[in-house]
Amino acid sequence: PVALTGPYASEIFSNLKRVFRLDSFRRNQFEAIDATMAGRDVFVLMPTGGGKSLCYQLPAVCRGGKTKGVTVVVSPLLALMHDQVNRLLEKDIDAVLLTSSTAEEESRNITARMYGNSKPTLLYITPERLKISSNLKNMLANLYRRRELARFVIDEAHCIATWGQDFREAYQDLHTLRDDFPDVPIMALTATADQKTMDDILGRLKLRNPAIFKQSFNRPNLNYRVVPKGSVDEMVSFIKGTHQDKTGVIYRTGRDNCEKLAKKLREKGLNAKHFHAKMDNVDKETALAQWQSGECHIMVATIAFGMGIDKADVRFVIHYDLPKTMSGYYQETGRAGRDDLPADCVLYYSYKDLRPILSMIRDPKDPNTTRESIERQEQAVRAVVQYCENESVCRRIQILQHFGEKFDKKDCHGLCNNCANEGLFVTQDVTKEAKSVLALVQSLERGRENVTLDHCRNIYKGANTAQVRDKGHNNHPAYGAGKDLSKELVELLFNRLLYLDVLVERSIQTNSKWHQQYLKLGPCADDFLTGNKPLQLSHRPKTPK
Ligand code: ADP
Ligand code: ZN
Repeated sequence: PVALTGPYASEIFSNLKRVFRLDSFRRNQFEAIDATMAGRDVFVLMPTGGGKSLCYQLPAVCRGGKTKGVTVVVSPLLALMHDQVNRLLEKDIDAVLLTSSTAEEESRNITARMYGNSKPTLLYITPERLKISSNLKNMLANLYRRRELARFVIDEAHCIATWGQDFREAYQDLHTLRDDFPDVPIMALTATADQKTMDDILGRLKLRNPAIFKQSFNRPNLNYRVVPKGSVDEMVSFIKGTHQDKTGVIYRTGRDNCEKLAKKLREKGLNAKHFHAKMDNVDKETALAQWQSGECHIMVATIAFGMGIDKADVRFVIHYDLPKTMSGYYQETGRAGRDDLPADCVLYYSYKDLRPILSMIRDPKDPNTTRESIERQEQAVRAVVQYCENESVCRRIQILQHFGEKFDKKDCHGLCNNCANEGLFVTQDVTKEAKSVLALVQSLERGRENVTLDHCRNIYKGANTAQVRDKGHNNHPAYGAGKDLSKELVELLFNRLLYLDVLVERSIQTNSKWHQQYLKLGPCADDFLTGNKPLQLSHRPKTPK
């Protein structure tokens, strides 16, 4: 590693220890801080959880930089800003927050401070407030005239990109910062890595010869695996076999799931606790502290567990339910192996887990949820399913592609189960099989028969179950059409057809109050039925006994 030196190094290090109580910098933090203190424009690309806030909070408390005064942070996420300001106040750093919902009196108070002698160190504002409030603009102009604007920080800078899903109208106006305050350095930060977005940010904010800090999002010490979700015992034996007495996190959805699984793990002799948003604060803090200190080894948690945890020696992160987004998955697995020693990220996958997530998305708690938002969430979770089912492309390539990063497979070094299993997989053409599955579903539909996914698979496989016999489906012409395929391949085939919207599961109102989901032809069924669209599956043939 290069020596961290320069005119500001001693002040930077002393504040790192004294104010932030940290021992060392993570990658690029020192360099970004040094550059902004030297008065340069800075662009920082760092994964979520990588430590972007320190890059602007630390220079804000330093006195020795080229520019002095208030650091103004523009951020779109209100909840996160509140949280950050509170944490800064806990560290005795003078930070204030000005948003469109700040109370009148509080606003006046902040304004008075800005014109007076007790200016805060950091001022957090929303882009909307900046756009509409002339008071705020006057206040900034006043600071500028007095040379008391140290820098502008644009957090989540990708919100400026018009094609992105996080696009924020008010971010468009941030280009005026450079025109109105030409001498004030700007620092832009984001976790979105594609080149197009980055160029857009640099251009729109009019950054001048910026110091650019990009890092690969690859975490070379993490082993990414996706395995079929089986019994809890399988997971227990994995943990006991590989990570006995080591620290880990198991992510689940739902408080009940967390509590039940933690209990079950304790019964099996593992040192586990649970954590979810619905616990009261004292319980949360206790659980977190016990895990942090090593008194408890395994935390079974919802994604509420994460913010602010910083334990270096997490040896495994397990997802026991389907994550809802790839970026969430990346962030959650990213909590493993912060000490750069090997760590395991295992996702236990079952296509069945998609169903409850989709129901939740389609039946949102918030009545104001827009159609677009629902569609976006659906798309996001389908991307996770695709990741789970794609057993041929290196998992790192798939994960990093999500952030716009190109990755070379040879740099995976076999540390994902797709690279490790390479050669074990064969690609098989299943166009004919897909057609015969669709013909089966079509004929059941024509006969006005409602069958579940499981039942349909059983007919196709030629399973001799009571239900199949009861309905006389053992006499159906398509009965046993897929009897020569392995169980895994049949499952994969149906899942892929569902994934492609060739088949859909639809709930149909029946007399009973249970809304059973039935398998039907989907909007894309014709592609295969009449369009002769080919289908290939990459799968691992069963090793003959
Ligand atoms: P980001 O904004 O990039 O998502 P944060 O700034 O919220 O990330 O930082 C994530 C976590 O990492 C926080 O808990 C923070 O305290 C911790 N962190 C940041 N920098 C360091 C460091 N140099 N050493 C140890 N922990 C750090
Ligand atoms: Zn790989």
